[in-house]
Formats: sequence, C-alpha cells, structure tokens
Amino acid sequence: MKKHNFSAGPSILPQEVFKKASQAVLDFNNSGLSILEISHRSKDFVAVMDEARALALELLGLEGKGYQALFLQGGASLEFLRVPYNLMKEGGKAAYLETGTWATGAIKQAKQFGETIVVATSKEENFSYVPKKYEIPSDVSYFHCTSNNTIFGTQMKEFPKTDIPLVCDMSSDIFSRKIDYSQFSLIYAGAQKNMGPAGTTLVIIKDGILNKTGRSIPSILDYSQHISKESMLNTPPVFAVYTSLLTMQWLKNLGGVDAIEKINETKANLLYKEIDRNPLFKGVAKTEDRSLMNVTFTLNNPEYQEIFDKMWKEANISGINGHRSVGGYRASIYNAMPIESVEVLINVMKDLENKI
Ligand SMILES: *Cc1c(COP(=O)(O)O)cnc(C)c1O
Repeated sequence: MKKHNFSAGPSILPQEVFKKASQAVLDFNNSGLSILEISHRSKDFVAVMDEARALALELLGLEGKGYQALFLQGGASLEFLRVPYNLMKEGGKAAYLETGTWATGAIKQAKQFGETIVVATSKEENFSYVPKKYEIPSDVSYFHCTSNNTIFGTQMKEFPKTDIPLVCDMSSDIFSRKIDYSQFSLIYAGAQKNMGPAGTTLVIIKDGILNKTGRSIPSILDYSQHISKESMLNTPPVFAVYTSLLTMQWLKNLGGVDAIEKINETKANLLYKEIDRNPLFKGVAKTEDRSLMNVTFTLNNPEYQEIFDKMWKEANISGINGHRSVGGYRASIYNAMPIESVEVLINVMKDLENKI
C-alpha cells in the first residue's frame, strides 16, 4: 500500500508522474525504445530538454525576460562551488546569509575563491529563525541566500532590495509559491525536493551576468558553455530531466505556481494549527519564519516518543523523523503532498492526545 511520504528528499512526486515515468521506461513516446536507452541527441529527447527548459521559465514567470534555464548534474552541492567560480570576481568578494546547514556548505565552497562575508547568521540559535537585519556591502560580486531551510523548517518571506546580483538556493521550495523571480540573477535547485528524482539541478541564469570574473573556468563548470550547448554540453541526466518535465507539466495543468501556493498554504496552516493547538507538541522554527514546505516540531514530553512513533507508522506514514541536527519531527509537505496525507498525520497527533 502506498505510504504517506513526508520525506525531506528524495521526496514525494505526483502519483501521475510516477505512472508516466514508468511507462516511458518501458516505451517512450511509442518509439519502441525506453527513455533509458535513447540517444540524448534524438529528436524526441531534444524536444524534452527544450520543453523542460522553457517550462521552468514559464512557471516562474521568467519567460521572455532574459533568462536561461539549464538542467545540470552534481546536485545543488556542485552549485555551491560553480556559483563563486562563475560569479566571484578574481580577487573580489561575495556576501552570504547563513540560515542553515546548506547555506554553511555554500559559504565553505565560496571561501576557496575569495573573501566571503557572512552578513548575518542564526547559527547561535540552531538556525531556528531567518536573520532580517543586515547590510550587504556595496563591493561584493553577489549576495547568496537560501530561500527555504530544509533541515530547520524556516523560509525567507522577503528578499533584500539591492543592486547587488541576488543568488538563491531554492532547492526545497522551487515552484511552491508566488514571488517575483525576476529579482534574482541566479537561482538553483536540486530536483529531488520539489521537482523530480535526484540527478539533476535546475539552474536559472540572467543574461549578461557571466564572463565578468577574469578567471578561466573549466568547461564543465562554466555556465556559459552549458548555455551555448543548450544544456547538452555532455550527456544530460535523461531520466531525471524527463521526470522533472512531467512534474512541471502536472503543475502547469493544476494552475501553476499561483494555484499550488494556495494549496501549500492550506496544508501548512492545517498542520501548524494542530501543532499550536495540541498541548503535546510544539513547533521548532520561529513562528514568523515557518516554512510552508518543511514543518519541524517536537513532543513536549519525550516519553511519548515511542508510542507516537508506533502510531504514525501504523497509520502508514513514512519519513517524519527530524534531521539529526534538530531532532523531533519534520513533516515535509512539498507540492505533490496531498492534503489527505496531512490530515492523516493530524489525526494521529489528535489520537495521541486522546490516548494520553
Ligand atoms: C538538499 C539540499 C541541498 C543539497 O542538495 P544535493 O542535491 O544533495 O547536493 C542544498 N540546498 C538545499 C536548500 C537543500 O535542501
């Protein structure tokens, strides 16, 4: 029986996407060939890549606005490195906002390329909030932030207004909410949280920001090489790109980012309401910074852990254990998570209260 999958990533995808992706593994477009064995240069796959690149921009409202979309490999972690390689001026600086483990990882890589200024951090409070008061120095090549902190369950509700190019790691909330995406110069997102299977990273780059560092960049790390080869500099992750396209098509049919934002708000509000109402539980993230995607919470009394764990497992729930650095629970309720699954979890929380 299909489980209610609250895993943080790799994570749930729409059931319809699983079905179409498995069909394509057996026979892609009635070609008599599997998606796993066709040439990435075949007409059918080039069409997939072209549509995926165009649809990513369309869903974010960036179509025709001077942006390029790429589907690369190496995970969001490789972008931690590729961003400074391509954007930090030789001998220059970059500014970072440290809001969680992934932001720390990005900072660590940037330090290899030049002075990396951490404008603010919430590390001293185990990243339970998003710092809001900080200044971005005027002489940095870019400012990097993480829109959603997957591990701690916080999310940026606003982004700084600045002339400095904004770079954002949106791995765990891409396509989940309506914001002005054109405020960013570069966006990246590993597919396995809200878009597809592990194996590809969506990178969106504003025209005109590349080739200004004075640094020579190895081809495979050079965004402009990937752009000139239309995201086919080498063999792309064919299946991950195809499955991501299926998810984007699913989202478009649903009404796009506007429609999913409303659904995501409904799901998150239901769950946070129960966390706040139920005397056995408390939230982890500061209320105003709560994520719509990753809901972190704990039991007030750890003695009930065993019985609660047994109850949610019996309810066919999977993947709600918190990250080891936070403890407690984390319910990841990405785009594809049905509201019914959130209700199942809420009912288990209520049942625990009634039992005790
Ligand atoms: C999961 C995650 C990453 C790391 O992604 P990989 O694809 O495993 O490299 C980076 N940033 C955020 C915000 C994440 O949630």
